[in-house]
Amino acid sequence: MSAPYDVPGATHVYSGKVRDLYDLPSGNLLMVASDRISAYDHALDPPIPDKGEILTRMSLWWFDQLSDVAPNHVVSTDVPEVVAGRGIEVERLDMVQVECIARGYLTGSGLFDYRESGVVSGITLPDGLTDGSRLPEPIFTPSTKAAYGGHDEPISYEQVAGMVGEELAASLRDLTLEVYARGEAIARAKGIIVADTKIEIGVRADGTLVLADELLTPDSSRFWPADQWEPGHAQPSYDKQFVRNWLTSPESGWDRVSDTAPPRLPDDIVEKTRARYLEAYETLTGETF
Ligand code: ATP
Ligand code: MG
Repeated sequence: MSAPYDVPGATHVYSGKVRDLYDLPSGNLLMVASDRISAYDHALDPPIPDKGEILTRMSLWWFDQLSDVAPNHVVSTDVPEVVAGRGIEVERLDMVQVECIARGYLTGSGLFDYRESGVVSGITLPDGLTDGSRLPEPIFTPSTKAAYGGHDEPISYEQVAGMVGEELAASLRDLTLEVYARGEAIARAKGIIVADTKIEIGVRADGTLVLADELLTPDSSRFWPADQWEPGHAQPSYDKQFVRNWLTSPESGWDRVSDTAPPRLPDDIVEKTRARYLEAYETLTGETF
């Protein structure tokens, strides 16, 4: 894993899988997106060049697009030179300890649970759905927030209510579904399907819910080219599905269920993944990186 940057005037306090957090003298936090990439709960090597900056720009674009849906944690993008472009000064929030996920399409762990039981996060879905099917309506499929190296487990809405109380649970569900609906519509108009997304919500001292971390990026969401959507098999995607496909192919030689670290990504997978992130950014925002 690449080491966090040495940022003058800031004190490194935490590193997640992808982002590093620093204390700032102002009392705010400095959140820095690294080029690290993770898949199947493993940090991978090497990093993807420019990924942190691409996803930071994309999140800022989304926070702006959705500013009427909910406030976000962004304070300023004026940060020390060494993290320029990838660092954001953010409001320090009390993070909700639930992964807030919305799904409009069925794939991944949702599809797995559906095939086992017909139920996803406590929601019974109709028969006959397949990989990539559009759901009758988007659903809230929360999961636990595992510590580094752990697995997030799906939980039902009722379990969330048991953890955080009825009132907050309802607010989390409603906000997650609204962010998804808005994001999905905006992306669709650009030819991208947002199949699902995970948002991280923080709480201000006065109880206001605030969008934090990253928003509607290919790391937190599944992005599919709309013109190639065809249920019945895995969809081509703009996200790290590309890296996942390679890791689980015979080529990588890696056994996912084993305890071993995944092999180093080959140069062409790194380059193609970078190109994919770039393409998603440019297609969505209409801006050139
Ligand atoms: P993943 O996103 O892959 O599930 P992760 O959230 O642990 O894992 P990162 O996103 O790399 O990994 O880490 C960023 C950390 O910063 C997370 O713990 C996130 O909850 C936290 N965070 C983000 N924004 C804020 C904020 N405004 N205030 C406090 N903590 C924040
Ligand atoms: Mg995160």
